[in-house]
Formats: sequence, structure tokens, C-alpha cells
Amino acid sequence: MRFLITNARIVTDSGLESVGIIINGESIEEVLYESSNQPAELPVIDARGRIVIPGGIDAHVHLQLPTPVGPSSDDFISGSKAAMIGGTTSLIDFVTPARGESLLTALIERKAQARCAITDIALHVGITWWSDAVSDQMKQCVEREGIRSFKVYLAYNQTIGLSYRELREAMICAASMGTMILVHAEEGGMIEELQKSYISQGKTEPLYHMLSRPPETEIEAVRKVISLVRETGCPIYFVHISTSGAAHLIADAKKEGLPVMAETCIQYLVLDQQVYYQPFNQSAKYVISPPLRSSENIKSLWDDLSAGVFDVVSTDHCPFNYFVQKEVGLEDFSKIPNGAGGIEYRLQMLYTYGVMEKKLTLQQWIDLTSLNAASIFKLKNKGIIKPGNDADLVIWNTSNSETISKKRQYQNCDSNIYEGIHITGCADIVIRRGEIVVQNRQLRPEISTGSFLNQITSNKG
Ligand SMILES: [Zn+2]
Repeated sequence: MRFLITNARIVTDSGLESVGIIINGESIEEVLYESSNQPAELPVIDARGRIVIPGGIDAHVHLQLPTPVGPSSDDFISGSKAAMIGGTTSLIDFVTPARGESLLTALIERKAQARCAITDIALHVGITWWSDAVSDQMKQCVEREGIRSFKVYLAYNQTIGLSYRELREAMICAASMGTMILVHAEEGGMIEELQKSYISQGKTEPLYHMLSRPPETEIEAVRKVISLVRETGCPIYFVHISTSGAAHLIADAKKEGLPVMAETCIQYLVLDQQVYYQPFNQSAKYVISPPLRSSENIKSLWDDLSAGVFDVVSTDHCPFNYFVQKEVGLEDFSKIPNGAGGIEYRLQMLYTYGVMEKKLTLQQWIDLTSLNAASIFKLKNKGIIKPGNDADLVIWNTSNSETISKKRQYQNCDSNIYEGIHITGCADIVIRRGEIVVQNRQLRPEISTGSFLNQITSNKG
């Protein structure tokens, strides 16, 4: 289909500029500035009074993540629908191989699971165990499936975590292929000691989840990984940085010219660790790793975000139901599945608490929610409104205001960590590859599935 968006105010170097956008098939055909003639014969969407931004890219989500208490409660259908409603048209999820399982086999299985998503999808491949064979498997993932990013956990040592020595091996391998590693930076050993100690004292409530993962566990891991970057030259992307202390180390590493990138997540910018001082049925839903932090930390994290320390704001979307899933940890916080949902609120949250509060410019908002993820993870033709790029667009209503409630949520979960929070702005219309997926804030009845974004590229150039 070929159509035109008129009165589309887009963010440019010189501020908001009103343009026309011609969409042809899956792509943006042309951006018409004021002087150009608007073709009369095309079907028109009038974006008057709103702004038009590139479709959001959430670089860190876990749909249908397998765990001992069953998969995270959003599958690729419900999770991608929730993303779309919030203006996110591309997701990057993870392959999490079992220990000993081939990375490539796990990747192919995960791709089959993800096929039903209505967003576009890319995958990061988890390195959950290490041997020489794994470095060959990493190569296969890159050469056969176009994978460009791997993920290593420094926590969860008993199940999927690696040691620093193993991470170093993986970094050498990733660097040799021109790829990068995402690191979950928490000191697994230190955390396990604290967990054991609290549980042996009968301190089993969710509060002790937070207290067993103090800021130092993140800061120390980030410090060690940065020295491995200095040694190996491997580009590192720190996922879900929650502390300002770690953000400062990352800022210094960037100044030093090291290939270090970082994301933080919405929850660390808006939710306070006070929530853990509630009874289990209120606090279990906030059990995520790293945990929420203090109000002073939230303030500093916003300063870091405004100052450009972070490249990306993602969600680490990984909801679990309270009943049957979170409640298995009633007697022991370390058994509560770690994770919470937020995929549909990312743009609204960052708009409300960032742009509206003048902590972020509109361009920063776009950079953090779309453009930077496209460039870091080499998602071709994404993140910028320009001819030839995919027609992934959001017509953003700047004046809508509402209060978050699980009664209206699209994510599949019996709770919501943002319940009662006030937000401004919303995605009125969402277009993915030229297809109108959300209209008047409603999903259209028949939506085609998205595309895979991992593609094999030649090593040249
Ligand atoms: Zn995660």
C-alpha cells in the first residue's frame, strides 16, 4: 500500500519540522518538506497536532523465557502486542541455551518460537556455559544466522552464569569476529554468600532479595569487566545498569575511549526500593535483578541519563504471574522468579518523566528508545525517518494523560509494577513496515507477523 502522512511533525536538528511522509510498501519512499508539492491522489493519514517518531526498539526483553516455574507469562504474541500498543515495533529477545546445549541448536529453536511475534525481532545469543566448542558455536551463530551480539551472565552462577575467566575467553572470541558481548554485571559469588546468610537467619522475605544485591555487587562487576575490555578490546554493552556508581565507571571508560556501551531500564528510573518493605503479596512482583534502588540513586541515574552516559533505555521485560509463579518464593526469596513487565510503557514513561520534566530532549528520547539500539545492534534501516528506511513510525499524542492499571494492560500478567502511576503521551497510531498495526490506540484485527532482523552480512566493508 502507498499512502501519505500529512502534517507530520518530526524531530530534526533544527527542532520540530512539519513534513509529509510517503510510505510505499514496507518503506519510507519520501519525506516532503514544506516547499514540495504533496501528491493529491494518495490515501492520507493526518498527524496534525501530534508528533511522528521512529518505531521504538526495545533491545532487552524476555518473552516466553523458560524457568523452573514455567515460562515468563508473556509469549511472543501477547508480548509483541503489548510492545506495539506502546509504540515499540522491534524487539531484541534472547536465546538462553541450557548448559551443554549447542548455541546454534538453541538459536534455531528460539527463532521458531518467535515467528508469531507481530513486531520485528532480533536475537542476542546467551553464552550459558563455556568450553572450546562454544567458541566454534559462536562462529556458527554469526556466520549462519547473522548474530551480532552475545550475552553473558555474571550472576546465577549455579545455572547460566560464567566466571570472569570464561567471560574473558568469550570476549576474545567475540572480538575476533567483530561482534560484542552484553554483560549482566552482578557479582554472583558475593550475592550467593549474602543470600545464604540471610536465609540461614530466617530472613526470607523479598526485602532480602534487595539487601543481598547491594549496589557494590553491580559496581564491582562493572569495574572488573571494564578492565577486561581494556585487555581484550572486545566491545561490551552493559545491560540493566541500576546504580549511579556503575554509571560513573562507564562514563570514565567511555572517556578513556574504550568500546563500552550501556543501558538502564525504566524501572530503575521510576521505582524506589521502598516497595520491598511491604508484605510478600505486594513486594514479590518487584523481585527483579538487579533490584530497585534508593531515591537518591534514582536522582543520580536521571542525571547520568541526561548527561548521555547511557546509550539505550530498555525494559528487561520478563513478567511472571503472582499466582503459581512469584508465590513459589513465599518461604524463600531466592526461589522467586526474577523479572517484571513493562514493555508497553517504555516510551510513555520516558516521555513523561524525561521529556515533560525537561530532563531529556525529544531527540534524546528518540535516541534512547530507538536510534541508538538500531545503530549499536546494526538493525538495518531502523531508527531514523528517512527515505529507504523501514516505515516503522509512531504518531505520538503528546497530550493524552492516564493512570496505569492492570485492568487495561496488554501484557499477560496478573500484576503490574507500575499500577497507579500517572503517564502522559501515547501512541495513537503505530505503523510497522508500512502496515498500520495500531489505530486509535487499538490493535487492528488482522496483523501480519514481523520479520527477523538478524541477517547474514558479508564481512567486507
Ligand atoms: Zn534480562
